[in-house]
Amino acid sequence: MSKNRHVKIQGILAIPEKIKSCREQLLRLRFPLQRVFSGRDILLGLLPLILLAVCHAVAVLRSFLQPACIVLALISLVPLAFEAAALIGRRALPLEQLTVLISTVPGFLLEPDAAVLIPACTVLLHQAQAYALLHREAELNGMRELAPELRAGPEKCDAEKSAIGALLASCGLGWYVLLAFIALVLAVVLLFHLPEASGWLRAVTVALVLSGPSAVLYATQLLHFAVFCSAAKTGIAYSDDMVPEEYRACRLFAFSKTGTVTDGRYEISEVEPAGITTLELLRIAAIAESQAEHPIARTLRSVAELPEDVQIRELQNVQEIPGRGVSALISGKQVYVGNAALLEEHGIWFNVPSNSGSAVHVAVDGEYRGYIMMADRLREKAFDALEELRAEGAGMLVMLTGDVRSAARALASSLNFDMVKPELGPTEKASAVRYLRSVHGERARIACVGDGTHDAQMFQQSDIAVCMNAGKDNTAEVNLYEDDIMAVPRSYRICRKAARMLWICVALTAALKLLLLILGITGVVAPGAAAAVDCACGAGTAVYALTGFSLD
Ligand code: ADP
Ligand code: MG
Repeated sequence: MSKNRHVKIQGILAIPEKIKSCREQLLRLRFPLQRVFSGRDILLGLLPLILLAVCHAVAVLRSFLQPACIVLALISLVPLAFEAAALIGRRALPLEQLTVLISTVPGFLLEPDAAVLIPACTVLLHQAQAYALLHREAELNGMRELAPELRAGPEKCDAEKSAIGALLASCGLGWYVLLAFIALVLAVVLLFHLPEASGWLRAVTVALVLSGPSAVLYATQLLHFAVFCSAAKTGIAYSDDMVPEEYRACRLFAFSKTGTVTDGRYEISEVEPAGITTLELLRIAAIAESQAEHPIARTLRSVAELPEDVQIRELQNVQEIPGRGVSALISGKQVYVGNAALLEEHGIWFNVPSNSGSAVHVAVDGEYRGYIMMADRLREKAFDALEELRAEGAGMLVMLTGDVRSAARALASSLNFDMVKPELGPTEKASAVRYLRSVHGERARIACVGDGTHDAQMFQQSDIAVCMNAGKDNTAEVNLYEDDIMAVPRSYRICRKAARMLWICVALTAALKLLLLILGITGVVAPGAAAAVDCACGAGTAVYALTGFSLD
């Protein structure tokens, strides 16, 4: 294990400390959620429950106390009203709060006994949310420590990022205000005609209390938190605009080769000078490459071991040509160092190497000076990573590389790639992604994985960009901080699991609501009980979503 990696792991272990400081920070914030943290506030939240329990006991003894019970139930709504007001003050969409209000008002009025569940569930929901918030902050702080270049991090984990959340939210505030208004009118009507509340009125009330999507919204938001936290633990940082459901939907993965499926370290397997000595050839190549970023350049520099001043003194007009090589003036002479395509473009004749592999050709002032044969190594776990991606649901794996056909083919077949497109420059890689989209349909979701060197154009065409060398490309949706290719399938698995959990929440919630609706309309279940069960379902999905914090 490298030293660097060790430091990173220590950073992760430091997180529990962070949780403490984060909790203190949160307590200082004027945030509605902070209320659930102080004992006094929990007591305040529980007070209505205690009052209701007392009332219930008294009401059993003296049934005429029922109206008093209703009044006390109304008092218990006050904290909820404050919560909603606080959220409106922060201009956040108080969806959940309004939904709770909507389901609580008629629920309490019709059946105070069953509605006892509601405040309890609300407290539980808020605790779940607060826990998630702390967890996420702690993980993010941990992440920032690991990787100072990490951007501010996902500042908000909106439920609206998910397709379901967006659908629910697009119903808009107006819808909720309308529902709240209807509920209030109903509540007033019911208050005065409680004993005579007709069947249809009850049916409408049941439908109304069940219309709130809070259970799904909570689950979506919490699972969104969970995705970020689970990933951060293993050095994966999703960007603000990563949509887990979009990543989940990616079936097609396009990999670039160098530094992605190979470890980016090259070995020189053969040097074939033409008209100069081997040393001179290596020296020219290293000087030309002295400012280039490509792994080939790094290798050539390390082999020649040139003092820095030599490079600076002799080098002028350097230009790195992505997917080709470099062009530079060395002591006034025009030098090209790169692949066959580079020399072809400048009309320079060159030797075709007898062995297959990636050759770096060198030309000085239009004259061919030989080639250096380079071989890069597969990452140790490249095969396992690709197999795991397939097992998770990736249907097609494609390799897009700038390397020559022979080297690319050999590598791709040893890794079981479904398709390989060699000899592509950065622009051509982007076109290849567009081509894949045209073949597989506009709705196909494509993930592109690269090491971040000259990958920007390809990343731009992808739906989800995965950058193996986090910090290199700040447009990527998924940034991997550990130099480990297994993080690619891991980052995918986390999103897939979260999406699966979300659908389970949606399916169960929808089934329960439908059942309650039927039972409510047929008069089997009273509106208060329906509201209580609905609220409990919200708390249930929230607690289920919390289990997602260890998604990997
Ligand atoms: P990949 O698509 O495998 O990530 P790149 O696009 O980074 O590969 O590079 C493609 C090819 O371009 C390399 O195989 C090499 O032949 C050539 N190349 C790119 N940059 C350089 C450079 N600085 N020096 C020499 N050759 C280079
Ligand atoms: Mg590359």
